[in-house]
Amino acid sequence: MKSVAVNGYGTIGKRVADAVSAQDDMKIVGVSKTKPDFEARMAVEKGYDLYISIPEREKLFQDAGIEISGTVDEMLDKTDIVVDCTPEGIGAKNLEIYKKLGIKAIFQGGEKHDNVGLSFNSFANYSDSFGKDYARVVSCNTTGLTRTLKPINDLCGIKKVRAVMVRRGGDPSQINKGPINAVVPNPPTVPSHHGPDLKTVMYGVNINTVALLVPTTLMHQHNLMVELENPVDVDEIKAKLNATPRVLLVKASEGLGSTAELMEYAKELGRSRNDLFEIPVWEESLNVVDGELYYMQAVHQESDVVPENVDAIRAMLEMEEENNKSIAKTNKAMGIL
Ligand code: NAP
Repeated sequence: MKSVAVNGYGTIGKRVADAVSAQDDMKIVGVSKTKPDFEARMAVEKGYDLYISIPEREKLFQDAGIEISGTVDEMLDKTDIVVDCTPEGIGAKNLEIYKKLGIKAIFQGGEKHDNVGLSFNSFANYSDSFGKDYARVVSCNTTGLTRTLKPINDLCGIKKVRAVMVRRGGDPSQINKGPINAVVPNPPTVPSHHGPDLKTVMYGVNINTVALLVPTTLMHQHNLMVELENPVDVDEIKAKLNATPRVLLVKASEGLGSTAELMEYAKELGRSRNDLFEIPVWEESLNVVDGELYYMQAVHQESDVVPENVDAIRAMLEMEEENNKSIAKTNKAMGIL
């Protein structure tokens, strides 16, 4: 049983903590917070040992009646690996601390690839992280692109990808990003960072992306145009995506024609926090015209990277050599379709 610490118990961190707890070969030794808010209180109520990132704030936690087990330094002493889920940019600073302590660490997509030196996706490059000390699970958008482009590349080869990324303005609880009422080219320059980011896990893929922010909090939405190396028909693509774990073919004609309805579907599945770990692809959108594949998909930004974090732990701690075995184990424990 391997020990895992989660540094930063926020949107991603709390989901990673629960996903790790659901596995039978790893356990959570602690989670961290800077603020004594309801999430800190609920972490303790759930049974997690809570550690504080800013030792000077101990009294604030005491005054709030939230029991702490120590500081992050003490948490790091007890673990085989840390999953850093702190806000963008803080992980790069934490990397120096982990290096000094000799602790393996997984970072999130908000950190720059170059700072960590290795990026991870369960399907594209699992074995590259086997036994490694530091890796970064690519962002929610890049994870979404990889989940569908990797199997398509395996099936028929990809000459070139163009993708238009329609991004949510903020997460549902991020009131500091709203209220919002605009469409924002983000960035206004082309390409956006998503294409280059995909190349950190799908080496050599030819892709360009443009991105927009829109006033929604539920999900991202992607529109892909993929020039194929070898001719295939749509049914072959459907069969391939159908057989790919963590990808769901959904039908607009069955009432799943929008991100709102997909979130309703996640609720109906009885998922904790309404999470949709899988990448839904609209079946009606799949079409091949003049050797070019078109399709549309959505990404639940708060949860799609979570199973990848579990697989990254297995790879880096050399718990499972084959990606398919780790993916299947993670999926079973998390109830992924
Ligand atoms: P978040 O919800 O803001 O959570 C961040 C957590 O880190 C909070 O628990 C916060 O604790 C803690 N924290 C804040 N400052 C800290 C510090 N100086 N030292 C240690 N911990 C600190 O952020 P998030 O959305 O989960 O994002 C985390 C990472 O995942 C980022 O790299 C982000 O780009 C990436 N990511 C996010 C999404 C998404 O849609 N949210 C999707 C994929 C990847 P307090 O609340 O107590 O301050």
